[in-house]
Amino acid sequence: MYMCTGYAAQAADQPVSPFTFERRDPTEEDVQIDILYCGVCHSDLHVARNEWHFTTYPVVPGHEIVGRVRKVGSSVTRFKEGDLVGVGCLVDSCRTCSSCVEGLEQYCENGATQTYNSPDRHTGGLTYGGYSGSVVVYEGFVLKISDKLELSGVAPLLCAGITTWSPLRHWNVGPGQKVGIVGLGGLGHMGVKFARAFGAHVVLFTTSPSKIEDGLRLGAHEVVVSKNEDEMKAHAGSLDFILDCVSAKHDIDSYLALLKRDGSMVLVGAPEEPMSVASFSLIPGRKTLAGSMIGGIAETQEMLDFCAEHNITSDVEVINIQDIETAYARMLKSDVKYRFSIDMASLEKAPA
Ligand code: NAP
Ligand code: ZN
Ligand code: ZN
Repeated sequence: MYMCTGYAAQAADQPVSPFTFERRDPTEEDVQIDILYCGVCHSDLHVARNEWHFTTYPVVPGHEIVGRVRKVGSSVTRFKEGDLVGVGCLVDSCRTCSSCVEGLEQYCENGATQTYNSPDRHTGGLTYGGYSGSVVVYEGFVLKISDKLELSGVAPLLCAGITTWSPLRHWNVGPGQKVGIVGLGGLGHMGVKFARAFGAHVVLFTTSPSKIEDGLRLGAHEVVVSKNEDEMKAHAGSLDFILDCVSAKHDIDSYLALLKRDGSMVLVGAPEEPMSVASFSLIPGRKTLAGSMIGGIAETQEMLDFCAEHNITSDVEVINIQDIETAYARMLKSDVKYRFSIDMASLEKAPA
């Protein structure tokens, strides 16, 4: 074991603050990574505040990690000291169930090991995330990162990127389709970029009129302010696919009304409170309402390689770790442009 510095929430009503904890020494199949940047996902906030009711404290959030390899175990073959690497929401899984074998580790039937707030398969303790100086991860869950892109903007690809990429790919979004992205936050802005890159006609739905110009710049062909009923009605029955990236309770039925016959709406946003759905929003048009969780490891690598090739990164505001609570407060006001990315060099300046 070695001592690692980071930031943790000690309770739902406590701010995320400096915390020192133990990490395992790298085993023969592990990679030890010095963290350079960690994106700030709304899930970090949901978990820090126990909004999903399964947080074990203290929790060190952070699952959009980019860093440099410090050390590798003796059986590690894919990485060496000095390599740029990424770690997303998963650090391990059972590796044997049918989902794992199919490369869908996020749906591991024996429970994937999440990067934080998850029982650790190695230590018997809890996993601690990327709001920290370093992390130790089994080689199979470490991603290769290109040195072509700005790293602060690459970090959010590890969750916001793959979470939007995976459903857009699974539901075969592409040319000839009209696709809605709901909510222009961390996930939503990546959804807009990918849907556009895949050749769809992209309509962004936002509650924030101030984001119209950004929505168009990020790749949307049209932007609808969802509070405006007439603007919403103009799209009734016209969308093939909707990706819902909203972090708080909202009206699902008003979006189902915008789908074509046989259209699908997929929830990736995970509000604290349940949302209602009217049967007759789905029945008349044989519509589908589904959910999707992050993405598998191979798929995440494919997404990262695509981003390197097509010069796609997240639009970030780089912050110091000391400013994390201010970032959370802005996130709650939908005031993120469009992801906070923590410069982990700031950790050294943290009070002991
Ligand atoms: P975020 O950056 O805070 O973006 C959320 C966006 O939702 C806001 O920018 C805002 O967009 C919209 N919004 C917020 N409150 C709203 C309300 N009351 N009504 C309507 N729209 C509202 O959050 P994020 O990091 O992208 O995460 C989004 C959600 O996805 C979170 O719940 C997160 O936990 C979840 N998530 C799920 C997965 C998964 O695997 N399924 C992975 C990562 C995150 P506008 O200003 O444009 O309206
Ligand atoms: Zn996330
Ligand atoms: Zn499994």
